[in-house]
Amino acid sequence: MTEPQQPRGVLYRWASILPVTEATPRITLGEGDTPLVRSVALGALCGLDELWFKLEMCNPTGSFKDRGMVLAVAKAVEGGAKAIMCASTGNTSASAAAYAARCGIESYVLVPGGNVAAGKLAQAIAFGTRIVQIDGNFDEALNAARELTQKHPVALVNSVNPHRIQGQKTAAYEICESLGDAPDILSVPVGNAGNITAYWKGFGECAERGLATLHPRMYGFQAAGAAPLVSGKLVEHPETVASAIRIGNPASWSGAISARDESGGLIEAVTDEEILEAYGLLAAKEGLFVEPASAASVAGLLKLGRAGRLRGGRAAAILTGNGLKDPDTAARHYHPDIVVSDATVAGVERALGW
Ligand SMILES: *Cc1c(COP(=O)(O)O)cnc(C)c1O
Repeated sequence: MTEPQQPRGVLYRWASILPVTEATPRITLGEGDTPLVRSVALGALCGLDELWFKLEMCNPTGSFKDRGMVLAVAKAVEGGAKAIMCASTGNTSASAAAYAARCGIESYVLVPGGNVAAGKLAQAIAFGTRIVQIDGNFDEALNAARELTQKHPVALVNSVNPHRIQGQKTAAYEICESLGDAPDILSVPVGNAGNITAYWKGFGECAERGLATLHPRMYGFQAAGAAPLVSGKLVEHPETVASAIRIGNPASWSGAISARDESGGLIEAVTDEEILEAYGLLAAKEGLFVEPASAASVAGLLKLGRAGRLRGGRAAAILTGNGLKDPDTAARHYHPDIVVSDATVAGVERALGW
């Protein structure tokens, strides 16, 4: 007989670095502790010595949002909240709805009209959240959620809630633990900019605690049609195939700029074509099926590599969400070559041209 294992999850694994107390309910869906796997093909294409993928799509609802949501919901419950609300391009609502269901509290999500990937909406519906489709974009939905949660006894769990950033920083600790140090470069897609802010905070703490000898350069990538941090101007009508980063007014704007400038990094734009190329290459060359927003982190490295702007070193790219979230983009991107056959050996051989 062996000892029963400790429960998994961010609030168990990382309690010592998070604002949790005796009174914080230790909820878990087994989030965090995601694999870090080495690239077999794309690293060389990017001109890197080592490229690692952090598989954040392996979190329980299929995106990194679970890391911060578990803490935000636990703190809301600790504070007596009976309901939570968020505005979301999809993954935040899927995650909020899951943890609310787990805790037996109500959840409300405001989604931008017509712009939410089918898999994410299916999750929110399955978890029994109240969905309000807003006649407007994400930024307008977030403004409404901020005001509503001021006015009503409902906790806001968007990444403007500092517990979200705290929970998300744990991924930086995991990377340092896996590699034995921080990477030279950390590449991440940027939408509302909570995640790049959280990683920079996490890597800073790792260096302070002696878990890393260096600070990575933070490379953030936005979609060209939704790149306010690149242009320095709000984007009123953000447009991109990568719906998770279709955001024109990032809530953590200053956090992203600090991460870039303090780390000697960059925030640049990648086009939808570049995103979809990386999306296809990740699947075909690495066996990793991610949602388009996640592919932006790799599209950016490919673009820099081809321009001769990456000279070796070790990079980690964050694969933020699962490809199954957005089946419509997959259906549009791939033109399946499926042949039909009767159920005989001869029939299959004929169909395959053997
Ligand atoms: C939320 C999200 C992002 C963007 O993260 P921010 O913290 O908003 O910058 C990127 N990819 C996926 C899959 C997401 O769900």
